[in-house]
Parts: sequence; structure tokens; C-alpha cells
Amino acid sequence: MTDDLCPLCGRPLGTVNIDRHHLIPRTFKGKEQFPIHRICHRKIHATFSERELLRAYHTWDALKANAEIRAFIDWVARKPPGFYTRTFTANKKKRP
Ligand SMILES: [Zn+2]
Ligand SMILES: [Zn+2]
Repeated sequence: MTDDLCPLCGRPLGTVNIDRHHLIPRTFKGKEQFPIHRICHRKIHATFSERELLRAYHTWDALKANAEIRAFIDWVARKPPGFYTRTFTANKKKRP
């Protein structure tokens, strides 16, 4: 799967920090899942509620058309594939 591209940001998925996203949320019986960067996945769920995902953002095109997601894609495009942080804007480094 290393040659696969992230369906949200379009960068190669790489081998670390990969999640799976259900376009139809699991709570609404969605079964189809897509490999996606963890950071991109977190961004989706930080931006939209499950109901919004179900009603309006159940396609990648709809997600990518959202202004906040577009800004995120522009930002993450400059990061390495395995890049992941819990907070998208803070500069401080925190270790678990
Ligand atoms: Zn991505
Ligand atoms: Zn998800």
C-alpha cells in the first residue's frame, strides 16, 4: 500500500501514522473504509460531526471542497508523509 495516495491531501500514504476513514460513519452502518493519513483523518473528524459527514461530506470531493479542509491540505502539503501532530497550529513540542 506504500504507493497509495491519501484520498484527502493526495500525498503518498507512506508507512506510518495511517488510519482508515469510513465515508459513511460506522455509527450509520458504513462499511467501506479508506486508508488515509492519521493527521488528515483527525482533521476530518475535528472539522465535521458524524451527522455532517453523513449528510454532506460523504464523498472526498465534498470534503475537499470545504474551505477549512482546503486550507489544511495546503498546509499539510509541505509536511512529510508520516508527519503527525495532535494540534495543527501549536508550535510547542510535547512528548507523551
Ligand atoms: Zn493525507
Ligand atoms: Zn473517519
